[in-house]
Amino acid sequence: MSQFDVTVIGSGPGGYVAAIRCAQLGMKTAIIEKYPVLGGTCLNVGCIPSKALLDSSEHFENAKHNFANHGIIINEPKADLSRMIERKREVVDQTTKGIQFLMDKNKITVFEGVGSFESPTQVKVTKNDGSTETIESKYSIIATGSKPSTLPFITLDKERIITSTEALELKEIPKHLIVIGGGVIGLELGSVYKRLGAEVTVVEFMDKIIPTMDGALSKELNKVLRKQGMKFNLSTGVQSVERNGDTVKVTAKDKKGEEVTFEGDYVLVAVGRKPYTDGLAVEKAGVDLDERGRVKVNEHLQTNVSNIYAIGDVVVGAMLAHKASEEGTLVAELIAGQKPHINYNLIPGVVYTWPEVASVGKTEEQLKAEGVAIKIGNFPMRALGRSRASGDVDGFIKVIADEKTDEILGVHMIGARAADLIAEAVVAMEYRASAEDISRMSHAHPTYAEAMKEAALDATGKRALHF
Ligand code: FAD
Ligand code: NAD
Repeated sequence: MSQFDVTVIGSGPGGYVAAIRCAQLGMKTAIIEKYPVLGGTCLNVGCIPSKALLDSSEHFENAKHNFANHGIIINEPKADLSRMIERKREVVDQTTKGIQFLMDKNKITVFEGVGSFESPTQVKVTKNDGSTETIESKYSIIATGSKPSTLPFITLDKERIITSTEALELKEIPKHLIVIGGGVIGLELGSVYKRLGAEVTVVEFMDKIIPTMDGALSKELNKVLRKQGMKFNLSTGVQSVERNGDTVKVTAKDKKGEEVTFEGDYVLVAVGRKPYTDGLAVEKAGVDLDERGRVKVNEHLQTNVSNIYAIGDVVVGAMLAHKASEEGTLVAELIAGQKPHINYNLIPGVVYTWPEVASVGKTEEQLKAEGVAIKIGNFPMRALGRSRASGDVDGFIKVIADEKTDEILGVHMIGARAADLIAEAVVAMEYRASAEDISRMSHAHPTYAEAMKEAALDATGKRALHF
């Protein structure tokens, strides 16, 4: 029987990063992945393919609507969805091959097959052809991720009633895409098909889109996406979804309790994701799950079985690739006897619509609910020279600081390249910077980042210079 110090089950951004860090720390490491391709949800059917399609569709949108304003005259552009999907596959292929390369480089043994516990120290790998191999491991890290969730009354036919996985592989541009759920997936993939010419209607149960982010961001994103032609039905609870030939019908109750129906040719169900432990046989190792099916862990991501850890989407917390990766690193270092730490408050969240939305720290709503005395600085993107030069004038940066100490407690932004700009806020908050600190740092001109300095100036005595 092969013997390992650590066996990682699942090769997503949690699992493969954990494996690399374990190998870097000198441990003999194995990784088990049930699919022939490494990289998990994020690389295969999540972050990377969705961003590839977001970029392609954004180029199309610009060619169609914005080039002429920049003085670029082209023939009417046409969207070739099959090429976009093919390009997306090429991007995924390059990225997943990169993970295989990293496994080889770090001398990590890759097992292809479903991993299932036989005992706390033995994991069985069942290959596609049914053959099995059992390996012995001092430690195991469960990194089996998540799958799309749905609503009890919906039958996903994966043709017209689809999840994000199928939405990344469509063969035609929908005429009318109905999106159930105004969260991250709904808005990102809704944006892709809106830009390519589909009518897009979002049906959201809560009274705002991206409901967990700062309220000012939901409001502004709603406004900008409506301007782009997306339709929103908020406070509307879906009750049934039916397919009849090529037509799908969604029936819902609006906020007045009245029945509303939406007819289209595709329905994207984007109501969240659920932890995935099917086939893992956690019970044979004695590992407990919580009431929502997540692997139960303590603050060190250790399960109730002391040599088994769990990370990423399969445990509590934000379902984000970079959160999974941080946890992978943390567990590897803990096993190696180090004392790592993750500040979960400083894990940024990003929505890759255009403009992008990005956030770190606490929202205004959270801080008010906690009774923290705060001050807020805002700066609109349209007041920047950089924004006018590019034409990307929508959005703002909002800096929330402690009323007394001036420490930055939250930064919420919507605007061009916000996904990259948020890194400045993460650094600032990691070093517990005050708004005054940011307001005194030089920011290159002309950049979108100047809005961060201006918002910090606004937070510290309403001193913004350009607004
Ligand atoms: P996963 O990536 O889900 O990987 C788990 C792996 O374990 C899978 O490969 C699975 O096959 C394997 N596995 C499961 N059970 C077994 C078993 N018993 N044996 C062997 N292998 C097994 N996050 C971001 O931060 N940024 C984004 O832009 C972003 N975009 C997204 C877009 C979409 C459309 C979706 C769906 C998700 C997106 N996410 C994004 C979320 C991100 O993909 C997840 O948070 C991340 O993949 C979680 O990583 P993980 O390692 O925990 O699990
Ligand atoms: P989500 O939690 O972001 O959004 C789900 C939305 O569906 C919520 O707004 C919720 O109120 C709504 N909803 C729930 N039940 C409903 C109902 N019955 N009718 C109408 N609306 C309903 O989930 P998601 O968009 O499916 O994404 C899943 C996960 O994947 C998220 O946790 C997210 O973190 C991750 N993800 C991240 C990114 C990114 O980082 N850019 C991109 C895609 C996905």
